[in-house]
Amino acid sequence: MSVIPAPIHLLPHHLNADLHCHSVVSDGTLTPEALAARAHANGVGLWALTDHDEVGGQARAQAAAHALGLPYLTGVEISVTFASVTVHIVGLGFDPKNEQLVQGLAHTRGGRGDRAKEMASQLAVVGIRGAFEGALKYAGNPELVSRTHFARFLVETGVCADTYDVFRRFLTEGKPGFVPHRWAKLSDAVRWIREAGGVAVIAHPARYDHSPTAEFALFSEFKAFGGQGVEVVTGSHSPDEYQEYADMAAEFGLAASRGSDFHSPDESHCDLGTLPPLSQQLTPIWHLLADRIQWPRPHGLQCS
Ligand code: AMP
Ligand code: MN
Ligand code: MN
Ligand code: MN
Repeated sequence: MSVIPAPIHLLPHHLNADLHCHSVVSDGTLTPEALAARAHANGVGLWALTDHDEVGGQARAQAAAHALGLPYLTGVEISVTFASVTVHIVGLGFDPKNEQLVQGLAHTRGGRGDRAKEMASQLAVVGIRGAFEGALKYAGNPELVSRTHFARFLVETGVCADTYDVFRRFLTEGKPGFVPHRWAKLSDAVRWIREAGGVAVIAHPARYDHSPTAEFALFSEFKAFGGQGVEVVTGSHSPDEYQEYADMAAEFGLAASRGSDFHSPDESHCDLGTLPPLSQQLTPIWHLLADRIQWPRPHGLQCS
């Protein structure tokens, strides 16, 4: 068993934790091993791989992290529909073999194949052919064709200049290639994470198209279901948004998480381990996870 409880004093407030990123197991372009190496090279002190709706990369990520002496937390980013808007819930420090979690994630992934075909049909109507096969070519995991893979196809074929251009012209509400989808329920996602022994975190809250009332409802219901954290410092938040969600964390009694949401050296503007620290007033999410961190074994103490 490689889970060794650590005393809380080993986890400083200003830890360079990066608890949100993606590998080829979902819509990233690097393997779990390459991500671990990049996190380590960039000075990350606590790392989690959080693939969308999938824990298939966890064993590789943990092994690669430990080979580099890097403490690891299991991670996942679950797609949820709340008030008709897609919301992402990050789970940290859970048992990736938990049956309910594994089944819940399989069910959440289930609709992606048909959705991708429908997205391709819509793109064909506006003259873009072969998008399903084109997107599939980029998907390291055929169960997990995502809009990111379509975006790569649209850039590769010269239809769009870059990913930003893709999501401005395609794949978003009201644009060709957008297919509304019902993801998991918020209550289920939080329950799966908690029952697997983990901590649930609202990912990049500034990115949702909710009214202030719906955002308040999201935080209230998330907390009532047992959610414990919110991403405050993350790749797609501005400094003003760090402050806004630090205030929300205080208002709702949530711990704060920090993660780049790194997907690719070519696409992500925020690299692993390069975000500013959490402000001193916040409770870092790793203070809730001290007993779930998987610590590398010190050299010389390897057990057979
Ligand atoms: P999906 O789960 O198939 O709906 O795809 C969602 C993924 O698409 C996100 O995790 C991001 O990686 C990517 N994405 C969505 N919206 C944008 C955007 N505006 N700019 C860049 N990437 C985006
Ligand atoms: Mn993604
Ligand atoms: Mn997300
Ligand atoms: Mn993400």
